[in-house]
Amino acid sequence: MQKEIIKKHTKIVATLGPASETVEILENMIRAGLNVARFNFSHGEYEWHERVMQNVRTAAKNVGVPVAILADLQGPRVRTHMEKELKIEQGETVRIFDVSYDDAKIKKNAQDEKVIVLDCPEIIKELSIGNEILIEDGLMKVRIVDIVEGYAIADVIDGGLVKNHKGINIPDARIPLPTVTKKDYDDLAFALAHDVDFVAMSFVRDGQDIVDLRKHMKKIIVDDMQLPKIVSKIECKEALNNLDGILRATDAVMIARGDLGIEANPSRITILEKDILKKSISHLRPVIVATQMLASMEHNARPTRAEVADVTNAVADHTDAVMLSGESSMGKYPVESVRTMAQVASETEISPYDDVLEAMSLTFSSEEVNVAHATYDFSRELDAQAIVIFSESGYTARLLSHFRPDQTILVATNNQKTYNQLALAWGVHSFLFVGENSRRECIDKTIEEAKDRGLLHTQDLVITVLGSTKAGKKLELTGTRIV
Ligand code: ATP
Ligand code: MG
Ligand code: MG
Repeated sequence: MQKEIIKKHTKIVATLGPASETVEILENMIRAGLNVARFNFSHGEYEWHERVMQNVRTAAKNVGVPVAILADLQGPRVRTHMEKELKIEQGETVRIFDVSYDDAKIKKNAQDEKVIVLDCPEIIKELSIGNEILIEDGLMKVRIVDIVEGYAIADVIDGGLVKNHKGINIPDARIPLPTVTKKDYDDLAFALAHDVDFVAMSFVRDGQDIVDLRKHMKKIIVDDMQLPKIVSKIECKEALNNLDGILRATDAVMIARGDLGIEANPSRITILEKDILKKSISHLRPVIVATQMLASMEHNARPTRAEVADVTNAVADHTDAVMLSGESSMGKYPVESVRTMAQVASETEISPYDDVLEAMSLTFSSEEVNVAHATYDFSRELDAQAIVIFSESGYTARLLSHFRPDQTILVATNNQKTYNQLALAWGVHSFLFVGENSRRECIDKTIEEAKDRGLLHTQDLVITVLGSTKAGKKLELTGTRIV
């Protein structure tokens, strides 16, 4: 059993790619603090995803901690379709084609003109003069000045290097694609067949999108306990307007700041992040803050001060998880990026700046909420080091996590999916027990394992929660000192 190197409550999601595909690198990332492996189905072949998912499972097993697998579906996303990279400079003119245009004619144009091809058929028809096209999270920008014979002519506003398969945003045009595309359904079938723990849905517009997706998944996976949890990516204006409905329907949320920063006012992106975080937490929905958190670490071994500030702020605002994109998928420093995030999270949690009790208010109350609250108070008053509970579905564990206690939350479960899915829940360490064990036995074994793993030490005070007051049952809150 590996000792955890950096003690932290905030979880880390890392996008995997060519830089992070081997068992060895994955083991190092897990030791550095990786909790959830994100597979972006916009990139890579099925063969690659299958192999690397297997590698994640092997690495997690070798290290002895749960790592959840998240399958991210692309959604109605337009991308560049470039044979080679193209440098564009401010003041230049470029021609924009889509893939429904004759390939030979595109090539002919590319001989004397700068040409950008978009992978969405028939999108040129939806464009008008004045439309702005943003490339790679808005890094580059061109503006359409003319539309001729099935292609567009545009002025370069912000130049850069246009690479293949990079995301495109056209804020004022209708994208001729449904929320869940044909490709997404195929990718979802693959993801379900490979038993993923989370499915992320891109460009969610309202709660109904999630209800529909879950209904579709239930046709394939009948047992509710085996269903992947749905992560709704908040990245368009419509989602902001329907946030309450989305939060009611979804299991978790990702603040996808790349597209959100383009669709909404980019100067307000951090304010939006804070709003979404606060709302999601009060709905008991785990939140992931994503995009460019340590962007410079794609090339450098150290983060910028501003990047440290970004992670610090998200942690102080009680996010469940922070995410790496290019840093871990194709950067030079995938392991160091995870370690840096873990270190910043840990320092922030130790500081008093994340101790805001306001985040504890919930949008609902129930017997379980009261028990979780009482456990939180009890552990705090006694200055305990850990709380240990048994949770089958993970619900009780997430309730406790919601209160963001200083104590380490140790969760015993008998369900493999719950074990994995709790990898996203703030402050939770889960332990799996298969076979016949009483709740009491699972809890005792969890304490033993936590000691082996360096999560508990001699003289630590552990609060154990057993049972519930429901239907006149007994609730036990016990304090035990580790010997
Ligand atoms: P999205 O718009 O969904 O965020 P993205 O293109 O920005 O998509 P990220 O998930 O942010 O992608 O990952 C950053 C980059 O890492 C991608 O642009 C791609 O170049 C690379 N990448 C990610 N996953 C893979 C993969 N499975 N295989 C190869 N390259 C990948
Ligand atoms: Mg991205
Ligand atoms: Mg603190």
